[in-house]
Amino acid sequence: MVLEVDFTIAALVIIVLLLPLYIYRKRIFKRFYKEGNSSEFIKDIYTYIKSNHPKADIDFSKIKKYFSEKDIERQQILICEELAKQFANYAYELKTQSSIQDAHLWSSYQQNSKLQKDNKFPPDWSQRKELAWIRDKKECNRCGLKVSQGDSNALLVKQMKHGGGFNLENIVILCHDCSRVVRTSNPDRLSRDLHFMDNLLKKIH
Ligand SMILES: [Zn+2]
Repeated sequence: MVLEVDFTIAALVIIVLLLPLYIYRKRIFKRFYKEGNSSEFIKDIYTYIKSNHPKADIDFSKIKKYFSEKDIERQQILICEELAKQFANYAYELKTQSSIQDAHLWSSYQQNSKLQKDNKFPPDWSQRKELAWIRDKKECNRCGLKVSQGDSNALLVKQMKHGGGFNLENIVILCHDCSRVVRTSNPDRLSRDLHFMDNLLKKIH
């Protein structure tokens, strides 16, 4: 009988001791629970990149090397940095684009395609930019991001000093990030400063 009472008390003590462990299990096993969420994060950024930057040449298998990182927030930041670095570094060549039918062009088009006085942009530059934007399906030529006309950046494939012109075949539409990427000499450093990086970081909860 005495033994039974002792046993009941012992059992109660054990239950009382284990209770906080159960209540605060998420806090106690924080890292374990957070790690469980990383797959959601990866799914999230994968979907984000594939749907917003369909042309971006990203190798997702390279993020595996960060899976051993125990601090889950640090792991996710490292993954964002890796993907942004890849985004800023994948090879892209500015290429001559398809031409537009003469019917859509205007009388001063040919004349204004040539080098302008004081190396200025031609007076019909915004018209050219709009036509190139429509021709390029309103998306970035490098990464495929949909861009509004106001957010689009028009770049010359061949610079005027190298014999290029303002003709539409020589104009390429890029998003803000990609226009910076193609002009930078330090893509790794630029990668941390891109909208692409900010948007990935926003996926970390
Ligand atoms: Zn782009």
